[in-house]
Amino acid sequence: MQLLDGVLVSAHIKEQIKQEVQDWQANGGKKPHLAAILVGNNPASEAYVGSKVKHCEELGFDSTLLRFDSDISEDFLISEVERLNNDETIDGILVQLPLPAHISGDSVINAISPGKDVDGFHPISLGRMLLGQPTFLPATPYGIMLMLEYYKIDTTGMHCVIIGRSNIVGTPMTILMSRASNPGNATVTMCHSKTRNLREITRSADIIIAAIGRPKYVTADMVKPGAIIIDVGINRIDDSTRKSGSRLVGDVDFDNVAPLCSYITPVPKGVGLMTICGLMKNTLQAAKQAKELIG
Ligand code: NDP
Repeated sequence: MQLLDGVLVSAHIKEQIKQEVQDWQANGGKKPHLAAILVGNNPASEAYVGSKVKHCEELGFDSTLLRFDSDISEDFLISEVERLNNDETIDGILVQLPLPAHISGDSVINAISPGKDVDGFHPISLGRMLLGQPTFLPATPYGIMLMLEYYKIDTTGMHCVIIGRSNIVGTPMTILMSRASNPGNATVTMCHSKTRNLREITRSADIIIAAIGRPKYVTADMVKPGAIIIDVGINRIDDSTRKSGSRLVGDVDFDNVAPLCSYITPVPKGVGLMTICGLMKNTLQAAKQAKELIG
């Protein structure tokens, strides 16, 4: 079994991005600038946004964090997004999800200018991805593709089972894994909560991508020996042996599945770090495209 090491791969990609930013600035480009919007004080969202802002500093990007109370109105949030759309100093906009229940995530994402949609969630970005046109890929699926690419894993002809059909992970992942490229060129089965005989399907998988949000849901009896496992899940479970009283685990029962498979991503230090790489690559791309547009 080989670990697909998010620390190693993200360090490599971040070095590439840093170098690209330096070259870009040496040629008269300005620092890429990411604006992140955080509504409320969900601890997990705070941690994700904090990490994204920290990565901006590390890579030589500018960042602006806009924080709003959880009782702001949808109209106000949309007007803030529009303000950022019109601000030429901002290259990329991300709205940390989930939003409070009274705000429609779709309406807010739809308000982001597609040219600044560095999370790749806007319908135009997703439509272009579906058609194989240049676009911002959703950050997590993009990060997974970068991970497979780094380890030169040839997925051609593989049976890829994706568990989860969210718009931000599972669904775009099915498109990327089935497109005519490598990684890709896989035969894809998408599973969800209404799938019958999930175990039988996953046992025929050469590669399983689990994006479910249920701790240790994929167990050893669901995995064919030699399969590749990509664990997207981030779940906090109680752990009295830890000072904090809890720890993070994925959607895969790592301890029992790892000995069976050929490659596996750990949680933490796996896909999460790759998601940040996807976001940062998109932000740099947005900065370069803005320069082309503005001149
Ligand atoms: P969603 O809750 O939006 O989607 C979960 C999907 O899993 C749904 O499609 C659901 O099916 C499916 N599902 C739920 N239960 C089962 C089951 N018993 N059997 C089969 N399928 C099931 O989650 P996300 O896609 O946003 O996130 C998934 C996980 O990935 C979470 O743990 C999240 O924290 C993590 N995540 C990690 C990221 C990273 O960077 N590492 C980035 C984004 C998310 P149905 O549609 O039928 O309800």
